[in-house]
Amino acid sequence: LRCCSSNGSGEKERTLGIIKPDGLSENAANFYAEHSSKPFFTNLIKYMTSGPVLVMILEKEDAVIHWRELIGPTDAGKAKITHPQSLRAMCGVDIEKNCVHGSDSHQSAQREIAFFFKEAPSAFKTEAVRKHDEL
Ligand code: GDP
Ligand code: MG
Repeated sequence: LRCCSSNGSGEKERTLGIIKPDGLSENAANFYAEHSSKPFFTNLIKYMTSGPVLVMILEKEDAVIHWRELIGPTDAGKAKITHPQSLRAMCGVDIEKNCVHGSDSHQSAQREIAFFFKEAPSAFKTEAVRKHDEL
């Protein structure tokens, strides 16, 4: 797939896309498929689609376990007592509204990163990104 304007001039063009609410809720349901049979599933999807989310890849040695340690236990209410310095204690409310997500294992992280960040075709990458990939 190559991008080019219809008159062949190579001029850039802009278009507008919107992921509508049903698009987001489908994504949330797929992302949390492992919890689809749990009683809290419907509420979880409502929560996850109640506003924008910021998705990020965090990179360091043992990132999975370190990020989980930093965010703290699932139940933000309990975390306020047992892990007061954790992100969930500081920003979360309860067992559902716990403000941050962290992959629970290396395998989950790979699956979840692929869920949000599709590998761009090499033709769309800048020279710097291609060099970085080769390292
Ligand atoms: P996590 O790995 O610590 O995020 O916890 P889980 O993978 O078990 O659950 C995914 C998300 O579902 C949690 O982060 C919460 O937002 C929500 N959740 C988990 N357990 C419950 C529960 O018992 N009740 C409700 N309402 N939400 C829950
Ligand atoms: Mg989890």
